[in-house]
Amino acid sequence: MVADSPDAPGTGPAQRFRALSSDAALPRRIASISLHTSPLEQPGSGDAGGLNVYTVEVAKRLAARGVATDVFTRATGPDQPPVVEMLPGVTVRHIPAGPYGTLDKSALARSLCPFIFGVLQAEAGNEPGHYDLVHGHYWLSGRAGLAAAQRWGVPLVQSMHTLAKVKNLALAQGDSAEPEYRLRGEDHLVRHADHLVANTPVEAGQLVDHYGADPSRVSAVPPGVDLDVFSPGPRRAALRELGLAEDTELLLFVGRVQRLKAPDVLLRSAAALLERDPSLRERLVVAVVGGLSGTDLAQPRRLAELARSLGIADVVRWEPPRSRSELVTFYRAATATVVPSYSESFGLVAVESQACGTPVVAARVGGLPTAVRDGVSGVLVDGHDPEDYARVLDGLVRAPARRDALGTAGVGHAAGLGWEATVEGLLDVYRGTLVGERLPLASGQ
Ligand code: UDP
Repeated sequence: MVADSPDAPGTGPAQRFRALSSDAALPRRIASISLHTSPLEQPGSGDAGGLNVYTVEVAKRLAARGVATDVFTRATGPDQPPVVEMLPGVTVRHIPAGPYGTLDKSALARSLCPFIFGVLQAEAGNEPGHYDLVHGHYWLSGRAGLAAAQRWGVPLVQSMHTLAKVKNLALAQGDSAEPEYRLRGEDHLVRHADHLVANTPVEAGQLVDHYGADPSRVSAVPPGVDLDVFSPGPRRAALRELGLAEDTELLLFVGRVQRLKAPDVLLRSAAALLERDPSLRERLVVAVVGGLSGTDLAQPRRLAELARSLGIADVVRWEPPRSRSELVTFYRAATATVVPSYSESFGLVAVESQACGTPVVAARVGGLPTAVRDGVSGVLVDGHDPEDYARVLDGLVRAPARRDALGTAGVGHAAGLGWEATVEGLLDVYRGTLVGERLPLASGQ
């Protein structure tokens, strides 16, 4: 903690920081909790996705400003070292909790108690006041974060990333509703976290409307994109790099392959597009980049069988999870990136695509209307009818100049969504939380 002297009786961190200037109230070291997924994993399959990218990108930039982060995550194998220094100022701490390996959501919830115990035990080796603040990511981590924050006498900032009540309102066919214990867990966190960070003003509103959050304890801080990595480049060269002809129309899906993200809608839309214009078959390619996740892990052939039954197996290219630099080539090569998700708290993929100059065709859900400027940097579609997506995609294929104009505008839109802005917003929240300030709803945008 910032103050060197031990706590006087009756004074908590909020009181102590209230007397400090806003610069002095910058935390020195944060405990970031990411129970269910490690920042060391390659995003794009299983539980590793946007949250992994978020924790790494934010921690990296906090470190550059002198704020160290320890990310606590569940150990998934016996050989993982307890402590890994990822970068100077960014440390990953593996906490053994429950069985190793990939756990489904209910098994993950059962690992919560041993995980909390492990976090407290790991910290016990440090001097008192090692962490100034805890930031929980996703509700399960928040539960662990709350226990740690209360034990250490520091504030908890909580990012939900997805909300069960909102998710349950827009389930994909075949997906089951989020369980009651998660709803109760999220309610508890909303009442007890010192501050809640939402990805968008819409999510901030949902925390207030669906969970009864106090608006003065909610801030919207949009996540971002690494503009040094994701940048525009010549499309034809990118197509060549992928081994594709220069006149290819590439429809791109990037992300964890699961029902909620609706890759099946893209496949059905591609089939509908070919029905509209059979001559496209010669040059249409659908690339699905990412690995299985969620219930698809138990049905690995589901999408390939769908592609076959739609008669488009020959145009679909299945790609394993790719590194960020490889993704850049896919984004640059694409006619459009399609994000037909049923629910999406933000949609990093949509912003990455725009940063590479490629328009996004996305469902008008969750954070996607923030991530994509409808009619300017992409097109938002109401609902999940493949015919509607096919109509929009057909328009882009037929009017390359419009496609290029959307792509160019996307670069400008993404430029306002760099991770630096996210870190600025988070630092505002951290400072305010440490001095016990109530921030207005949706500050930090
Ligand atoms: N991703 C990746 N390689 C892949 C597929 C995805 O690195 O093969 C990354 C992608 O670049 C993005 C993240 O995974 O940064 C997915 O984030 P998003 O917000 O789109 O979805 P989430 O996984 O959070 O649901």
